[in-house]
Amino acid sequence: MISGCMQRVLAPLQQAAVALDIDGVLVKGKRALEEGGRALRMLGGHNRLRRRIPFVLLTNGGGVSEAEKAADVSRLLGVQIAADQIVLAHSPMRALAAEYAHKHVLVVGGEQSRCAHIARGYGLANVSTPNDVVAWRPSAWPFMPPPAAEQLSAPAVRNYASDPFHAVMVFHDSFDFGRDLQIATDVLRSRDATLGAELVNRQSVPLFMSNEDLIFSNDYARPRFGQGAYHVCLRAMWAALTAGAPLEYTLFGKPHAVQYRYAERLLDRLVLAAEPDADIARLHARRRIYAVGDNPAADIAGANAAGWTSVLVRTGIFSGAADANDPVHPAHHVADHVEDAVAWIVDSELARMEAPPP
Ligand SMILES: [Mg+2]
Repeated sequence: MISGCMQRVLAPLQQAAVALDIDGVLVKGKRALEEGGRALRMLGGHNRLRRRIPFVLLTNGGGVSEAEKAADVSRLLGVQIAADQIVLAHSPMRALAAEYAHKHVLVVGGEQSRCAHIARGYGLANVSTPNDVVAWRPSAWPFMPPPAAEQLSAPAVRNYASDPFHAVMVFHDSFDFGRDLQIATDVLRSRDATLGAELVNRQSVPLFMSNEDLIFSNDYARPRFGQGAYHVCLRAMWAALTAGAPLEYTLFGKPHAVQYRYAERLLDRLVLAAEPDADIARLHARRRIYAVGDNPAADIAGANAAGWTSVLVRTGIFSGAADANDPVHPAHHVADHVEDAVAWIVDSELARMEAPPP
């Protein structure tokens, strides 16, 4: 009995945590869903627990820094979000700096040279983009005007014939599939990972890609191609060019475990920031992490595999009937929208606190 009471007053803050997807859950394209701000305010303490529930935003979006994404979502939803509450598809790629801090890397995807700047922010100091390569040799991709200086990742044009690459990293959606297929396969097939060298039917350097979502939901009537569509094209081009040579790559982003472990570390840090003496081992033993998402193949599959409690909402990719769940990746709970999802999470936590201790 005493331990039951103790648990009630001890640490409801520590016992639940939430990871919310952004697109199709809190926002649609550039438009906030009205339930999104209310859901975040509930997590901020306006709930029946009368406690803050630590949360992160776990998205397969990217192409911006965590700080830019936090500012963007804060403005859209009218709720203050910190950069250390954001997990983008490419956020765990920070860890690649341990190996590639000073090695030359081709960074693919995103608008202009934004992803090169993000990579540098992660500690990858020596990066180039496909646009940089086209500036060096416009005939490398003749179907565009040579890029202007402000479209390049660095002021000086390098000599890619003598400066080998050590990896290809796809950070975000390609803004020019043709150019990015050409330059990435050029690097991957080069005998010595320089450009213009002999092309061979084996992979020259490792390939890392941040988000395999084939489609995503924005404010258009139907889902749009995601970065996964570029992966499909890259694998197909690689197979056609190399007579089916194997192509190895490492994936980041949901539903991969690396994303969930990264989010768990951020959630630990949020708890420690609020309660510096918190017992993290005890927290891990008691904590239930809820994931709210709209994409069964990414959000729900990944959360279920991570041992989290998954909540599927109907405001994005999934739009099943009121009593339906996804048949392939069923969620623990299905809610109409994110506000209902968070209300269900609060109710679940109240029930858990009132249950007799195991
Ligand atoms: Mg989504």
